[in-house]
Amino acid sequence: MEDSTFSRPNRRRAVQLIGAIGVSLLAAGRSSTGFFTPSRRVASGGQQVSFPEGAVIRTIFSDLPPDALAHGTTLFHEHLDGVYSRETRQLQLPPPSSASIDPVVSDIEEAMENGVVCIVDGGHPDMGVNYEHLREISAQTDLHVVASGGYYLRNTYPAEISTMTEDQIASRLVAEANAGRFGAYGEIGNMAGRADFFADEIKVFRAVGKAHLQNNLPIFTHNSYGSGPNADVVPRDIALRQLDVYESVGVEPRRIAVGHMDSLPGTNTDIINALAERGAFVGFDRIRGDATRDEARVTLVLSFLEAGHVDRLLLSSDTRSDFLKVARFTEQLQKAGVSDEMIHTIMVDNPRRFLAFVPPE
Ligand SMILES: [Zn+2]
Repeated sequence: MEDSTFSRPNRRRAVQLIGAIGVSLLAAGRSSTGFFTPSRRVASGGQQVSFPEGAVIRTIFSDLPPDALAHGTTLFHEHLDGVYSRETRQLQLPPPSSASIDPVVSDIEEAMENGVVCIVDGGHPDMGVNYEHLREISAQTDLHVVASGGYYLRNTYPAEISTMTEDQIASRLVAEANAGRFGAYGEIGNMAGRADFFADEIKVFRAVGKAHLQNNLPIFTHNSYGSGPNADVVPRDIALRQLDVYESVGVEPRRIAVGHMDSLPGTNTDIINALAERGAFVGFDRIRGDATRDEARVTLVLSFLEAGHVDRLLLSSDTRSDFLKVARFTEQLQKAGVSDEMIHTIMVDNPRRFLAFVPPE
């Protein structure tokens, strides 16, 4: 297993990292939750994030100015309407639409007490998402919920996708986004255990890209690294090829978050660095409280930050329960030497930068 090759982040690397950004480890504050609470320096305007004029973050109920999410954490890839098993750490899709939302409401309330202000739901109709549940969850908790649209994988596509053209699919995606107040397209993926995309998957990626060109909604993707019976045939560079397909219709990489990059086996940061160098956000979005995996993630995050990509990293868990596991992970990052300012960038500013878009006239 690739996990056995991971080593604990060492002190030398942490010091190099801190030195590289000119922040004293000792001076870095420690919030009691290890999460969400902006440091005094940040809260007093130590860092400014700018957005294009007219930019909004579109939740299921309203268009927010990006500064509305400046004082809390946004989790960019979760599933509020799936059924996640804490025992197996598996998400059941599609979720039973009749399922009670009470368990997720109580998890959200706990997360909000610890500073979470916004969650992006990565489900859409071909995954069985119930958007009414998302509205009820947001109304009951006052959590900002961003709903998403699109298609997941070839084996979840509705049958008509195979005969529709790219432009027809794009038109439908735009209409659905308008009707459903979607704030993003995602998660958009390709099948596990394969060395290449299906033709229909390329058609859907390009259609999502064309829809984006019409309404500017951000896009987040699903990668199938490390899953399925033929996991070893999945090429390492498939995430870069996802970006190629979106770029082929004119989507700028900075509008895309390439997901599940923490599932890429091994410790080589070549692919995540290449994604960031092209301008894309990199999702470490399967943080599920597994100690061994999280130790490996810390190592990868340190390498990624050392390469200068703090403004490209997004963290999430891709589940619907116990959102504080991402908080616990950020505490591990702090222990490894990552400053409060960097945590703030990763958990507060990067999601806002990813989600903010200027609606067309
Ligand atoms: Zn997901």
